[in-house]
Amino acid sequence: MTLPFKTTLEIPLIAPLALLFILTISFVGSLSANTGSIAFVGATIIDGTASAPLQDAVIVITDGRIRSVGPRSAVTIPANAQQIDVSGKVIMPGLVNAHGHVGNTVGLGTGAYTTENLLRQLSLYARYGVTTVYSLGGDEEQGYALRNSQFNADLDRARIFVAGSVVLGDTEAAIRAEVNRNADMGANYIKVRVDDNLGATEKMPRLLFDALVDQAHIRRLPVAVHLFYLDDAKYILNAGADLIAHSVRDMPVDREFIDLINAKNVCYIPTLTREVSTFVYESVPGFFADPYFLKEVEPAIISELSTPEYQSRMQNSAAAQGYKVALTVAMDNIQRLREGGVRIAMGTDTGPPARFQGYFEHMEMHMMVDAGMSPLEAIRAATGVAADCMNAGDVGTLEPGKWGDLIVLGANPLDNIENTKSIESVWIAGNRVPE
Ligand SMILES: [Zn+2]
Repeated sequence: MTLPFKTTLEIPLIAPLALLFILTISFVGSLSANTGSIAFVGATIIDGTASAPLQDAVIVITDGRIRSVGPRSAVTIPANAQQIDVSGKVIMPGLVNAHGHVGNTVGLGTGAYTTENLLRQLSLYARYGVTTVYSLGGDEEQGYALRNSQFNADLDRARIFVAGSVVLGDTEAAIRAEVNRNADMGANYIKVRVDDNLGATEKMPRLLFDALVDQAHIRRLPVAVHLFYLDDAKYILNAGADLIAHSVRDMPVDREFIDLINAKNVCYIPTLTREVSTFVYESVPGFFADPYFLKEVEPAIISELSTPEYQSRMQNSAAAQGYKVALTVAMDNIQRLREGGVRIAMGTDTGPPARFQGYFEHMEMHMMVDAGMSPLEAIRAATGVAADCMNAGDVGTLEPGKWGDLIVLGANPLDNIENTKSIESVWIAGNRVPE
């Protein structure tokens, strides 16, 4: 549906020329302000906050944003609202992927960064219920442009936020210049790597890392860090980093780390499915038989990932086998972090080849539950907590004033996290995402 941009309530406040313009837009979209409201009636609502789910609830969206939400008895439905009966269904916020990459991959190849490819991937995320994605690196002009054009009531693809380039440089001056270039383009985050690819490459020297954090903070931008080792994780927290974008995977996290990350109020993004993608194609993965995976992936990609050549390359890759062990460490660490009260946000590192956008976000939540989180904790990590961690502001929970980004499910994910896949429809700014 198309919603009008403005309600008639604002008309007395605006200049005549603008009035004419807005009336024109309104008449194109609809003939009365109230047709801009949509009400979902009768569902169980998991709102993404710490509150208990609401039974037999109503949520009203007007002009793309949530106007009211609550038990049926407490919500007034506007007279001319379009009503949708969702009794027996479950509504939850659209998923927020705190760590993805958008725009560069087609099939199993890269280098295809175009507006068309960005939109294709943002629509793919949206069909899987991922309504916001933080693209942490590899972002170019077209990605920024889509970020800038998404704050309106006719959006029906996933929202994108961007980090620009992954910052590299051999000198402090080069690092500061690259931070400035990303900041000048309007990046939401500054992204940096401090790992060594399991010993295969040099880590960024700590003096350069310190300069990067300093420059990012001068530009009032948060720093998201790709890391692997516990020792580096402690270092970057003390140096002022703002987000841990992957699991600590070399050893169990300790009390010192948990106290430090909590004291610094920094969030932790496990990206468990990133590890999975590094080794799982050494044989045919179970999810190649999941209809929910098959409905979006091209058969040619499955064929290529299933060839003996591809499989033996992974079987014989030291990196693949190293990351397979790292995943068990990462899974164990989730339970320690959870018990330590650390804020954990759902993120996947999807986007690069064979890290399947949309499907892997559901797998990630399932793995978070396998690692010891409750289904409600995993859902909060993928909605309200992720939005909080990323300073997303007006997405991630179903509360008045937030964008109307939500998922209608046929089965309750609190009974079984696998039920996040029972998506019947996805809505962004109150618009149904095309299937
Ligand atoms: Zn990444």
